[in-house]
Amino acid sequence: MTFPAILDASRNASPFLYGPEGQAVLRALHSGQYGHTEITEQFERDIAQFLGVPDAVAVASGTAALHIALLAAGIGPGDEVIVPSMTFCATIQAITACGATPRFIEVDPGTLCVTGHDVLEAVTPATRAVLPVLYGGRAVDLSGIHDALAERGILVIEDAAHAFGSFNGTTRVGASGHATTCFSFGPIKNLTCGQGGLIIPRGVEAAKTARSLRLLGVIESAAERSAATSYTVAGFGLRYQMSSINAAIGSVQLANFTTAESARKKLWRAYKAALAPLDGVTLVDVDVEHSVPSLCVVRVPWRDRVFDFLREHGVGVGVHYPPNHLQPAFARWHRPLPATEAIGQQILTLPFHQHLTEEHVQHVASLLEKALTVAEASR
Ligand SMILES: *Cc1c(COP(=O)(O)O)cnc(C)c1O
Repeated sequence: MTFPAILDASRNASPFLYGPEGQAVLRALHSGQYGHTEITEQFERDIAQFLGVPDAVAVASGTAALHIALLAAGIGPGDEVIVPSMTFCATIQAITACGATPRFIEVDPGTLCVTGHDVLEAVTPATRAVLPVLYGGRAVDLSGIHDALAERGILVIEDAAHAFGSFNGTTRVGASGHATTCFSFGPIKNLTCGQGGLIIPRGVEAAKTARSLRLLGVIESAAERSAATSYTVAGFGLRYQMSSINAAIGSVQLANFTTAESARKKLWRAYKAALAPLDGVTLVDVDVEHSVPSLCVVRVPWRDRVFDFLREHGVGVGVHYPPNHLQPAFARWHRPLPATEAIGQQILTLPFHQHLTEEHVQHVASLLEKALTVAEASR
C-alpha cells in the first residue's frame, strides 16, 4: 500500500506514515472488534517497554489522558491547578472538565516552559496540582521544587503531548517517577494513532483507577468481561478507551520511532543553522540534544505581517498558541501575564514535519528573511 507524500512546506504539520499502517488497520477492521482489544493492550505493553516504565494506560486522546489523570488524582471543584497560559486550549479544558480552577502562570520566553520559581510563587492553599506543558518536546525538570510541592501534597501531572520520546536527563519523559505523564497521539504529534492518548500512572492503584475511568467505571478487564455473565460498575467513568484501529496505527508508528527521532532532530538542527544569521529572529530552544522536537517556533517582530507574507508565499506558518488567559471561555480565571501576552504577539510556528527536507528549510528561512524586510518597511 502506498500513500501520497506531502512534499512541500505549505503545511505547518502533517502526519508521517511509514507504510505498514494501512495493513495494520485492515487487520484490525477484519478482526471485527473495534473497541479496547488485545491490540490496544499490546500497544500499551510496547509503549511501556519503550519508555522503560512498568505500565501505560491507552485512552482516546491526549485531552482524555489529561482529564483522567486529573480525575484519578481526585481533583475537582474548589481545587486549583497551576498551568501555563501558553498551551493548547485542551490542557485548560481538561482542568475545567473536572470543575477545577486553572491558575494561569507565565513561561520562560526562551523555552516557553514554566519555571520552578514561577510555579512556587503561584501556590495557594487551594493548589492541588501543577500541570507543566513540555512545549515543543522539551522536558520540564521540576526536581528543584519537588520536595516543596510534596510537602504541600501538590501533584505533578505533565502535559507531554509534544514530548513523546524526549529525555528528561537520562530517562525518557514519563519514566522519572515524579509525575503522572500524559501523551497525545493525535494526527500531528511525534507518534500518531490517528487519534489517541496515553497516561503513565504513578503506581498500581493509580493505573487501576485510570483503567476504570476510561471504561465507564467498569473494573473487570476485557478478558474477565468476556468470560462472565455480569460486570461491575464501581464508580464514575467515561467512554475514553483507545480503539483497536487506532492502536494498530500506533504500533506501526512505534516500531518506526527511531526514524521520527532522528528526522525530527535533524530538521530542527537544520532550522537552527539556517535561522542563525537572521537578525531579529529568536528560536525557541527545545533542547534538541535531549528532545524529539515537535514544533519549530521563533519569536519575531511584526509577527502578524510576517505571518501574512509567508502565508501569501505558500509557507504553512502557524501560531502555537494564542494565550488561554485571554480566551472568553477562561475569562473568569484571567490574571495579568505580561510576558505571555508579549510572547503571544511574537511567536510564529514554522512548517515542521517529516516530509520536509533541508531544502525546504532553506526555502522557509530565506522567505522569512524577506518577510522581515517587507514587514519592517511597511511599519
Ligand atoms: C495536542 C495537544 C493536547 C491534546 O491532545 P489531543 O490528542 O488532541 O486531545 C493537549 N496539550 C497539548 C500541548 C497539545 O499539543
